[in-house]
Amino acid sequence: MKHYPVYLSVKGQRIALSGGDEAAVAKLRLLMKTEADIVVYASDPVADIQNWAARGKISLIPRALEAGDLSDEVLFYAADEDEEEDARTSNIARDAGVLVNIVDNLEDSQFITPAIVDRDPVTVAIGTEGAAPVLARAIKADLEERLSPNLGMLARVGKTFRKAVEALPFGRPRRDFWADYYFKAGPRVETKGEVAAQQELDELLFQHIYADKQPGHVAFVGAGPGDPELLTLKARKALDVADVVIYDRLVAPEILELARREAKLIDAGKTPYGQHTPQEHINGLIVDHALQGHLVVRLKSGDPTVFGRLDEELEACDEAHVAYTVVPGITAASAAVASVGQSLTKRGRNTSVRFLTGHAIDGFADHDWRELAQPGAVAAIYMGKKAARFIQGRLIMHGADHATPVTVVENASRADQRVIASTLSSLPQDLAEADLTGPALTFVGLTPRRAAATLTKFQQQELA
Ligand code: SAH
Repeated sequence: MKHYPVYLSVKGQRIALSGGDEAAVAKLRLLMKTEADIVVYASDPVADIQNWAARGKISLIPRALEAGDLSDEVLFYAADEDEEEDARTSNIARDAGVLVNIVDNLEDSQFITPAIVDRDPVTVAIGTEGAAPVLARAIKADLEERLSPNLGMLARVGKTFRKAVEALPFGRPRRDFWADYYFKAGPRVETKGEVAAQQELDELLFQHIYADKQPGHVAFVGAGPGDPELLTLKARKALDVADVVIYDRLVAPEILELARREAKLIDAGKTPYGQHTPQEHINGLIVDHALQGHLVVRLKSGDPTVFGRLDEELEACDEAHVAYTVVPGITAASAAVASVGQSLTKRGRNTSVRFLTGHAIDGFADHDWRELAQPGAVAAIYMGKKAARFIQGRLIMHGADHATPVTVVENASRADQRVIASTLSSLPQDLAEADLTGPALTFVGLTPRRAAATLTKFQQQELA
């Protein structure tokens, strides 16, 4: 490096230039962008130079430079476009101890001016030590295109915030803040002017300070059986503030619509017999988003504690030291039993009720089958559509009455809810005939009350 690039402080300093023609004009255009005092020596300057002098942008001395003119100038430009005159004026400057640049004479110059991309206060200086002016121009053109014309404004506004940003811890949090400002928030508002940029910075700083103090959090929220009105107020609030909502297949679209517009929605749907998202992957999604400082809502149908694989997800949070809360929801059995006008327990009929999953039903202890086969026993079977024949066989084998009532509620609480009243003996046929496509809950030991059972779909909707 024969030339060492530095930025020279010129505010209130004098820069002198000798010359009154095109070379002088070109240099002056650049020099006038600085806050230096510019003095031009020219006996016969062109109109541009005269105008600038008239407007007070430069001081014009209408004669040739002479010995004794220069003393404490920081820079001198010889722009005389005449070799002899350049030699004469530059010697005067050198004798006065002023750094000299002779236009188009790299050899005799003490400093050179780089090509400049100007987004004041952001400036890019490009120099090739005279080796490749074409290359310098190409680099300049490339940068001019790439850097927004408003970058300078963003930087000016940003500078006024440097003190305020000290509210953020040193290092990464501050770097993240500035990166957000210059590459995301800033470009969004740069065309709207300084005031908008100022407001954006205020807002962004608030967000960063807040985000920094708030570690991520996961709310495991019960979305209920489908009807949005069966959401709890807590569930509603959680959806209002969630940054990320990770939801299951059975969560109704109407409920997802309640999430914040800016929230990121992630489908972690598991189809019971088809494609599914592996549990570890879901755990990872939950934990990763929380560790990034987000408020995560893990939205599960019904109640999250009922056949929801909640514990695996809680353990993943525990392991990652992620804080969580569980917001209960209305489980499908509660919604379904409401639709048939029965209770899950009843004095004199059953003092306990079982919640079973049809998925694991063959692992169900024999002892329990015997209990369930007793008159008056009530069970709510989740995910039981495929297990109907198995359940029928086991219960009859353990002495259950063939006429034991069995009620299946499909799409409980939703507009397309259906109730199928059946008995143990006719259950498989009735289910085959009904050809259920939605989620369904099977009650062993409950029969729909007549009023509830005879309502048409339309009437049920009217009442709902
Ligand atoms: N955590 C959920 C249950 C998830 S297991 C809850 O508490 O409800 C999924 C099973 O729930 C489905 O196979 C079905 O048996 C039942 N289910 C969910 N929503 C239902 C609905 N709207 N109507 C009937 N059954 C439903």
